[in-house]
Amino acid sequence: MVGWPVKHSRSPLIHGHWIAQHKLDAAYRREEIAPEAFADFIAHLAERGYVGANITLPHKEAALALSEPDDRARAVGAANTLWYDGGRLCSTNTDVEGFTANLDAALPGWEQRVGEAVVLGAGGSARAVVYGLIERGVAKINVVNRTPERAEALRARFGQAVQPVHWAALPHLLTRAGLLINTTSLGMTGQPPLPIDLDPLPRHAVVADLVYVPLETPLLKAARARDLAVADGLGMLLHQAVRGFQVWFGVRPEVTPQLRALVEADLLK
Ligand code: NDP
Repeated sequence: MVGWPVKHSRSPLIHGHWIAQHKLDAAYRREEIAPEAFADFIAHLAERGYVGANITLPHKEAALALSEPDDRARAVGAANTLWYDGGRLCSTNTDVEGFTANLDAALPGWEQRVGEAVVLGAGGSARAVVYGLIERGVAKINVVNRTPERAEALRARFGQAVQPVHWAALPHLLTRAGLLINTTSLGMTGQPPLPIDLDPLPRHAVVADLVYVPLETPLLKAARARDLAVADGLGMLLHQAVRGFQVWFGVRPEVTPQLRALVEADLLK
């Protein structure tokens, strides 16, 4: 994991668990690399003994520029996973599949029942979420953001499926939403709460939150109280790690209740 800083990352715990489970002679390390040293670090990744890397803030755009991105990384405009294919340094953005795989695990067939989606937020994670929804054929994605220009930028990036909408229109929008996703940092420990009333949502609606500290956000709690299906941020975090492990070590690892319990315990520390 390459970042600046990286000490709070849970990725070493996740990949360490899978390395032990698959009895691999490998290690997953944290590398704290300043922005000015990043390009040189990546240029010598293999010489340092690495088969690849996860990339976190503030290097995800630089990683994109220094590698051969797949469609997901290119569309999102950020790479968070690097690996070698022969001599080529390839990249992807695993938040896209983390988001959709987490929904698949919680609710197989979700894309058939969604209809319209509402995405709260228009930051980095919203780009991955919107692209995941487009990949899975969701035809209308309403994006609500405090700064309207950033929602407009998502429309410019991803096209007509994205509809920028003001917060004030949210209650009406929710009446026809099959999927509501919070990609803002609201509801996170230390942040203001997310000001939203879930009452207008239809009974079949699914609520997803990317925030995973706390594990059960006030949004997810309110959704469960209404008996709505939910997908939580920790699930996404675990599922986004799968692809990296697979491309580095050639084994597709599983997101098990045991792994979840391990990371939950760490988050509760
Ligand atoms: P960004 O900083 O790129 O975007 C933050 C978003 O939150 C913006 O849309 C911003 O609106 C909105 N926001 C922040 N504060 C407020 C506020 N007070 N009122 C209204 N809107 C606000 O962050 P990311 O997209 O990278 O991450 C967002 C969250 O998702 C974080 O909590 C992060 O931990 C989580 N996350 C979880 C992942 C997982 O695997 N579960 C993966 C990636 C992220 P504006 O544009 O107006 O500033």
